[in-house]
Amino acid sequence: MKTLDLVLPDTRYPIHIGQGLLDRGELIAAHLPQNKAVIVSNTTVAPLYLARLKAALGAQGIRTLDIVLPDGEDFKTWETLNRIFDVLLEQGCERKTTLIALGGGVIGDMTGFAAACYQRGVPFIQIPTTLLAQVDSSVGGKTAINHPHGKNMIGAFYQPRAVIADMDLLDTLPDRELSAGLAEVIKYGLLGDAAFFAYLEAQMPALLARDKTVLAYTVEHCCRMKAEIVGQDEKEAGIRALLNLGHTFGHAIEAGLGFGIWLHGEAVAAGMLLAAEASRLSGDLSEQDVQRIHALLQAAKLPTLAPNLGLARWKSLMAHDKKSENGSTRFVLMGAIGHSKLATLSDNMLNEILTGRFIQ
Ligand code: NAD
Ligand code: MG
Repeated sequence: MKTLDLVLPDTRYPIHIGQGLLDRGELIAAHLPQNKAVIVSNTTVAPLYLARLKAALGAQGIRTLDIVLPDGEDFKTWETLNRIFDVLLEQGCERKTTLIALGGGVIGDMTGFAAACYQRGVPFIQIPTTLLAQVDSSVGGKTAINHPHGKNMIGAFYQPRAVIADMDLLDTLPDRELSAGLAEVIKYGLLGDAAFFAYLEAQMPALLARDKTVLAYTVEHCCRMKAEIVGQDEKEAGIRALLNLGHTFGHAIEAGLGFGIWLHGEAVAAGMLLAAEASRLSGDLSEQDVQRIHALLQAAKLPTLAPNLGLARWKSLMAHDKKSENGSTRFVLMGAIGHSKLATLSDNMLNEILTGRFIQ
């Protein structure tokens, strides 16, 4: 097992990465202020892993209640959040009761937000069960639910007490979800680490085969990069925005097609290629680098052509992005593989990209 520390001005917490961690109740028990915890999971993950987690905690003398929610982004809502509060209140849970998220990013985001709100804040622990959640959503303290007017629009910055990423849990993840997680993994290489990008080029077959050693190294590397960035910029005043590489285009794809048609990681993959093309047209990225990015995304079984949403719709969707400021949309571009920066794009440039070779 490897342990990283995420260090923030007023808190720090461990990120444990390895195999067989679900059965190690002591990793969780160490963070509980009382011998009671509530596990939040969903109808897909609970049958696979809930009993083992309860047994591991039981062996440490911890009583657990569980809340099993319906599966899916459609349920990342106020109504579902209220179901969590209903159980916590009915069961007399106190300020010292810890919430444990056992699931992907949907469960993690929702449980974290419930923990931020319940009695003005109770401890929470993340046990991410998707690759995307292990490398991205479980680390950094962004929590949220969706609103009919927008994704993740209601939320809080609220850090967990610990993150426990067990590679064994990825065995049951559907292939398409694994690839979606790999999009965020590739993002880390592109935005800040050319050597890691080269590692991914070499190890993509092993990652797709779910080689545990390669997965653990990869998750550790991504968490280290995210921890470093979040440690410098917890609330996204500056460099944390670089983590949005490919996301302005990606969010437009998700919203334009209707959420859930493409997975988030799939949209980010196509979005990163549009960002690469923008970087090339700006004179920063070489054609050879664009081809390398294309090849790696393809090797990860990710889409490399964005849907054709039409110019007007693309632009209106991107203008609504949460990250836009004073009406102008900021994009994350690359100076080279492993070097990213924030920039705006001219209307002409956008037209060229959005009608160009990486559109279906
Ligand atoms: P998800 O939570 O919907 O999980 C994907 C699917 O895999 C679900 O059907 C889930 O039940 C299933 N699943 C999870 N673990 C499994 C396992 N081990 N075996 C078999 N099936 C399993 O999706 P996700 O990609 O993990 O997360 C997406 C969510 O994360 C979005 O809501 C997004 O907004 C959020 N997110 C948040 C942050 C953040 O910083 N907080 C960052 C990125 C994404
Ligand atoms: Mg993302």
